[in-house]
Amino acid sequence: MSRERLAAVRSLVKAAEVDAFMVTHPVNRRYLSGFDGSSGLLLISSSQACLVTDFRYLEQAEEQAEEFSVIRRHDELYSGLAEIIEHNGWRKIGFEAKHLTYDSYIELAGKLKIQWIPLTDIVEKLRLIKSSAELIVMNRGAAILDQAFSYLLTLIRPGMSERQLALELEIFLLRAGAEERSFRFIVASGPRGALPHGVASEKLMSVGDLVTIDFGAVFAGYATDMTRTVCLGNPSRLQRRIYDLVKEAQAGAVAAVGPLKNTTAIDAVARDIIDKAGYGKYFGHGLGHGIGLETHEAPILNRRSETGLEAGMVMTIEPGVYLPGQGGVRIEDMVYVTECGAEVMTTSTRELITI
Ligand code: ZN
Ligand code: ZN
Repeated sequence: MSRERLAAVRSLVKAAEVDAFMVTHPVNRRYLSGFDGSSGLLLISSSQACLVTDFRYLEQAEEQAEEFSVIRRHDELYSGLAEIIEHNGWRKIGFEAKHLTYDSYIELAGKLKIQWIPLTDIVEKLRLIKSSAELIVMNRGAAILDQAFSYLLTLIRPGMSERQLALELEIFLLRAGAEERSFRFIVASGPRGALPHGVASEKLMSVGDLVTIDFGAVFAGYATDMTRTVCLGNPSRLQRRIYDLVKEAQAGAVAAVGPLKNTTAIDAVARDIIDKAGYGKYFGHGLGHGIGLETHEAPILNRRSETGLEAGMVMTIEPGVYLPGQGGVRIEDMVYVTECGAEVMTTSTRELITI
């Protein structure tokens, strides 16, 4: 796996006309080398693949990063680099402009008097298309989210706090093999449901509340993400109306996902449905985001993004309607693009569940 990725990144590096490419973003480093320690950087040229890390990680790096020569760095941030660069006669090195901090850049450029070329989205471009092995891992994670949702339906009840529900959900996911949660879970009940990012609070859930639960966890390095909204007690007419509207918009957008489709057009499908029903101003965020080693990655689906979809891309579709002071609804699924359409990865029911 790592060998194919290395070959792919080498051809992008060649096109960028640099002698070598330095990877500092931990997620990109893990993607290319397999090494998941907290410190280290990669240097990749047409013939070399080096992983520079500190004493704590030497053994782990040797084990995980089979395709890389592991080099120990000493106390200074970029010690070790000078020797490699000099030894190979590199004069022009590309770095990840989105990820190298300004401080580190200044230190680097001050110490190593060569040309430093800012490059963007080299590894991100590769990560955009998931391999079948990655899809298997992500599908497994998505299936665990579905199980977690079924489990939470057995727990959720009026009088329980949002935080308690979030905690039980996290324990379930960790027990099921998650490395960690993907983000702080959102459990937003009643009027708090109008906060699209209302992280779980001490609020007790009560009869009549719509409760939006947005959760996900990392499995074997890959993030997962899903949202369902349930109703405690019978929904009012307004609650039923906005629920059905979001459900229709979500289903419409999912059905529109496929190869060669444009992300803006997919966003427009959901937005038009919500707009036409008169709730457009209550859907103030983008339709979804790519997901993989990071919870939010390319492609982004909103009114401005113009990415053409390709088979192997994985993304969320998550429209919502948020009525200030009253509450909100969001439904989110992970989907991946196939050769002829899309496959939904999270399959929990999208019918309104009343508890
Ligand atoms: Zn989410
Ligand atoms: Zn999401």
